[in-house]
This record gives sequence, structure tokens and C-alpha cells, in this order.
Amino acid sequence: MSGNRRKGQAASSSQAAGLLQAGGVSLSFLNHDAVNLLPAGFNTSGDVEKLIETIGVDVDPQLRIVFKKLTKKDVQTREKAVKELLQEVQSSKDNTEKLKNAFPCFATSYAGLVTDASTSIRATANAILSAFLTILKKDAGVYLKTVFPFLLFSTNDAYHTVATSAKTAFEEVCTTSEKRQKALDTFAGDTANICLQIMSRQHKLVQAQKTIDTENDATRQARLIAQAINALTDHLIDMFNFENPPRTPRSPGSINELNLEEQLFEPSVNEQKRLPALFRIVLSPDELNNSLKKCFITPRTPQLSLHHKLFIWDSLVQFLSELDIQTRAKYAASVDTSITDNLLALLFNALPKDLASKYKLFSFNGALSVRQILTSSLSFQSAASATTYEHYLINLFYRTTICLPSCVRAWYIGLPRNQHQEVTVYVRLLAPIIIERELNSVGIVKKDRLTVKALSTVKEIIASYRFEEAKLSLKITLPDDYPFSKPTIETERAIVNADLLRKLLRQLTAFLDKQNGLMLDGILQWKRAIDNHLEGIEDCSICMSTVSAANYTLPQLQCRECKKKFHGHCLYKWFETSNAPTCPMCRHTFYN
Ligand SMILES: [Zn+2]
Ligand SMILES: [Zn+2]
Repeated sequence: MSGNRRKGQAASSSQAAGLLQAGGVSLSFLNHDAVNLLPAGFNTSGDVEKLIETIGVDVDPQLRIVFKKLTKKDVQTREKAVKELLQEVQSSKDNTEKLKNAFPCFATSYAGLVTDASTSIRATANAILSAFLTILKKDAGVYLKTVFPFLLFSTNDAYHTVATSAKTAFEEVCTTSEKRQKALDTFAGDTANICLQIMSRQHKLVQAQKTIDTENDATRQARLIAQAINALTDHLIDMFNFENPPRTPRSPGSINELNLEEQLFEPSVNEQKRLPALFRIVLSPDELNNSLKKCFITPRTPQLSLHHKLFIWDSLVQFLSELDIQTRAKYAASVDTSITDNLLALLFNALPKDLASKYKLFSFNGALSVRQILTSSLSFQSAASATTYEHYLINLFYRTTICLPSCVRAWYIGLPRNQHQEVTVYVRLLAPIIIERELNSVGIVKKDRLTVKALSTVKEIIASYRFEEAKLSLKITLPDDYPFSKPTIETERAIVNADLLRKLLRQLTAFLDKQNGLMLDGILQWKRAIDNHLEGIEDCSICMSTVSAANYTLPQLQCRECKKKFHGHCLYKWFETSNAPTCPMCRHTFYN
């Protein structure tokens, strides 16, 4: 079942990539696979004719005919109709009542017009919108919500004239920079939603059209998806740059009660969902690393606030947690340790240091157990039961640790002595719950030649691999402060030769050291490495394994001189340390 689904996804992803290329768009950084995972959303652009029937009595008879023409199949009729409509609106400046009655009809057809195959219809639609809104102003009412997201979307039109018409309309309607900023703040979320729906091909606008155009459905889809990506990328840059973190302070009373220095911040539900999704759609692993560097490492003015940094970090952790283990490894391996170290230091500094006295406060006087604090879902909705800020921080620290145990361990081990002791208080709190989670995840797993068994009372995991004639059992013991210390690995039973035993021990150690996720995932990747080795796939000549412990790829780079194979990750590390692009085996300049 899952195999089938994966196949289907791959097919439609390459289709999406093909469409983008057909549209003349090259987006090397885009992760196409991700586009298919987006949730379904709302529909816009309702049925105009029905609307006219419902409220039609008030619409001027002349305009009514024009609106009907706008929905016609052939492009000439529609092009003529938008020009007529523009003239009608401009010449009715003094008849506000007439325009007010007609605006709902225009507003509901605007989404279709501003994405029409005809560039002249698209540009004229923006001119009409501007004419309507500069006259109607507040009288446009709730229909602003219908038109504004598409006006913002239209500013990213690939066709210069159309984009300019949208920008002009935007400036004519919002005459000051404050008004423009306000409009952006208000409608950015809706615009992003529309973009996501277009990219996942769930929006009405990218579905087959009844009209007869020069553009076929595939080209239209490619054009709109490319436009949506551009619009979203703009928003992403905005989000990484905006100065005020999304937050709503709690009511003053409850803050005083808890005597917290920091106010609780409350990202809106939309923002909570949107940012992780954006990471996936717009950023390749390298792009992600660069964006995070901009946020956390490069000095910048104005400084991002602590809340905002934590919000971005939280989104990243959510994003990584949802990925399969191999994709997560690729992203995690590309994030610099300077970023994770920096962020963990920030997060830890924000955590309360006098845990015993603060515990009462953030646990609602002991009503919540440590386990509940760490694993319950957070609520920012009602003030009465809302998660406290400190509760949130501890929860985020926990989620970071189970998502990126290897990164957290590297940070913890590298701490100076006095800070190390401070963190240990939290280590004691988190470790038992994480160890239990690890052991429960194993239970007994049997997969081909591999058997994994958890012995909960002694905190041990036995991993056995059965060869044709031989058998190997390794015993992994979890320390009391796992994952903040490494597990120990010993031979339980080995009927294999000493060289192979040494190699397999070393490999399992590497997998468990570098794995960001459950131990079981690391063990399963180790199994993959043995399987590949037995199937005769050549080892990487640097790390001596088929599967890379860093990002789970196979050795794909081959030296032209000595024909040895390497993982891209291992070779890149070697180039860095040796300061020369030479083959580590034969010392010739490396050509792939
Ligand atoms: Zn390697
Ligand atoms: Zn070589």
C-alpha cells in the first residue's frame, strides 16, 4: 500500500517539475516532492451567475450584461467585456450606489480574471479593481477579503505589464506606506494559503478550464504554480525579516499571578502551520542552512527577538519531525553545528534555572506530571488553561532532543563545566521519559535477517543479524542520561570472523552516534548497510560503509584514476580537511 502511494507521488512530482520546465521556469532549489504533501484547503471564486441571480435585482442592467460576457468561453468576448466594464466603472464615478451594488459581482469574478490566459484581461482586471476601490473605499466591505489576496498574488505575475498593473492598483488603493503595510499584514496569510493550494493543484483556478484559450491546461497550471512559488518566496523572505514577533500577551492578571518575566507569545494557528510547510516547499537543505544562518548567526539589525527565534526554531523542529528518517538526515546533516549550538544555548538560557521552585508554577501547582508537560499538546487558545511560557520552553527542549538527539548531545558534551551542571538538572528530567520512549518503540522488531529486542528493565536493546551460516548479536546499553550520553555497544554473540565483527561494531557505533531520531531508525539503517554489503555494493573508501551514517546515502562518486567510490558527504569533508580536491586514495586531483 505505502509502496503504491510513494510511486504515485513520485510520478506526480516529476509531472510538476516537467510542467514548471514547460513554463520556462527553472527552480533548482525547489523540493518538488513536498508539493504533493500539502493539505486541501478552501475554494474561492464562486459561481458568478448564481450570485447575479441572487442579488441581481440591484445590479445595473447594463453592467449585468457585461458581467455575463465575462464568463463567456471565447477570449475575444471576454477581452471586449473587461474594456467595457472599465469604461462603465470610470464613467460612473458619481454613482456610488450603482458601483456598490455591482462590486460583489466583480469581486467574485476577479480571481478568474486576474489569472486569465489573456494578459490584457489580467491587466485590465487590476485597473477595474483600482477604479472600483478608489471610489468605493470602505463601501467595498467584506469583498475586500475576496479581492486583496489575488491582487497581492497578481503582483508576482511573470508578465511584467500585469505585475505593474497590480502594483499600481495596490498603490492607488493603499495610498500611504502604513496602509500598504497594514494590507500586507492582513492578507499575507490568505495569499500564502492560495499559493499553497495552487502549488498542490487543489485550487479551482488550476483545474481544467471551460474557456477556449491560447493556453492549454498544463501551461496554465505551470504558469500559476510558478507564480505561486514566486509569491510564496517573497512571503518567506518577509517572514524571516519581519521585526515584530507574532505574539499576543496574556491578560495582565494572569502574568502577575505567575510572576513571569516573559510574556506568553501566541503564534496564530495559520502561522504555526504555514512556516513548517514553507521550509519544505521553498527550501532545499542548503537553502535552509543559509536562511537559518541569516536568522541566528549573522549579526543583523534589527535583532530578531528571542521569541521570534524560538518560533522559527519550533517550526523547524516540527518540520523535521514530520519527515521520514532519510530526508530528515539530509536536512539535519546540512545544518551547521554553529546554528544548533547557538539555538540550544538561547533556549537553555530562557529556561528557568531554579527548577524546583518554578516547577509548581508551570505545572499548575503540581496538577501536571513531568510526562504531561513534555508530551501533552500545547494550547494557546484560552487564557484559563493556556500553556505557560516556561512549560512551552521545556516542551520545546524535549521535542528538540527527541528530534535531534545527536545535535543536542554534541552541544551538551561541549559545554563548559558550570553550564554543564545547570543543564544536568534538565537531563535528569528528560532522560527517563526519552529512554522509555526508545524502548517502547523497539519492543520486538523482526525484519528479514534482523531481529531487534528491547529488555526494558535493564535498559538494553539486542540487535541480531543472521548471515547465511553465521550470526551476530550486539548488545546496546542505554546510559541513565541517554540521549545526552552515547549508548555502549558490546558483542553478545558472534559467529563471524574478527575483521567483519570489528567493522560491523564500528558501523553500528557510527549510526547510533549520528542518528537524529529514534535509535531503532539508526539500527535499521545499519541493517541496510549490511544488506548492501552482502549484495556486493562497494563500500565508501573513507568511512568503509555502504550506507553513510551522516545522511544515509550510498557511495555515488567514483575517482577516475583509481576507481574507488565515495559518499559525497565523506569526500566533501575530506576536501575540507585536506584543503585540496584530491582523491584520498591515489592523491590525483578528483574528477567524478
Ligand atoms: Zn563514506
Ligand atoms: Zn583515486
